[in-house]
Amino acid sequence: MNFHIMTLFPEMIQQSLSNSITGRASDKGYISFNAVNIRDYTNDYKHHKVDDYTYGGGAGMLMQAQPIYDCYLSIKNKISEKTDKKPRVIYVTPQGSVFNQKMAAELAKEEDIIFLCGHYEGVDERVLEEIVTEYVSIGDYVLTGGELPAMVMIDAISRLVPGVLSNDESAMTESFNNNLLEYPQYSRPEEWMGKKVPAILLSGDHKKVDEWRLEQSIIRTKERRPDLYEKWLLENPPKPEKKK
Ligand code: SAM
Repeated sequence: MNFHIMTLFPEMIQQSLSNSITGRASDKGYISFNAVNIRDYTNDYKHHKVDDYTYGGGAGMLMQAQPIYDCYLSIKNKISEKTDKKPRVIYVTPQGSVFNQKMAAELAKEEDIIFLCGHYEGVDERVLEEIVTEYVSIGDYVLTGGELPAMVMIDAISRLVPGVLSNDESAMTESFNNNLLEYPQYSRPEEWMGKKVPAILLSGDHKKVDEWRLEQSIIRTKERRPDLYEKWLLENPPKPEKKK
């Protein structure tokens, strides 16, 4: 899977994602990162400007349409050399639908995704209308730029691409599958600061361990994410009690 990132700070993307799991996955060829500098596409050869004042007044500068559009065309043309499929273009913005695990799983099936990272006050609406297929936010707060949101999404998507995690099963049992948070987990030693690992986990009885984990997931979700718990409850209504 190939991530193409339109950004004013390609080194920020390249340096961060080349570490840890995403770095290893890219070395092994499961994913690739193509961070493209929007500034390289400006027609302002003298000052390399990519932003300007906003019509109608107001504080701050806006990213202009032309450099973004030309940057997009160069990426799109490269992609169309190998496939007829039109790539999805995601503008990361606080004005988008809020990203979640379900979206990550759906995006992980794509071959190419293009991200647009905004800066300053954002981006000229006309280029967004022209190229963007979806608007995605990573939460209800405003950041200074789109690089962190794009990297958050790329990280979450990458680990769902087959082969990226050494054990694909670990993504299946994690939080948000079936609208539940993951159960508590423990490692060595068996006792730490007077706290013991729950005895059931040392029993070797896998069926009982699974039952305990599901029960703990339900308790944890109910306490910490009542909104998710309600969704889980709708899909798993309590069984009616048998009449005596
Ligand atoms: N003026 C814009 C608004 O009120 O919606 C905010 C612009 S923000 C300072 C600059 C850029 O950061 C945005 O264009 C976007 O790409 C990115 N950004 C900021 N917060 C974000 C969030 N919560 N999710 C995704 N992207 C975000």
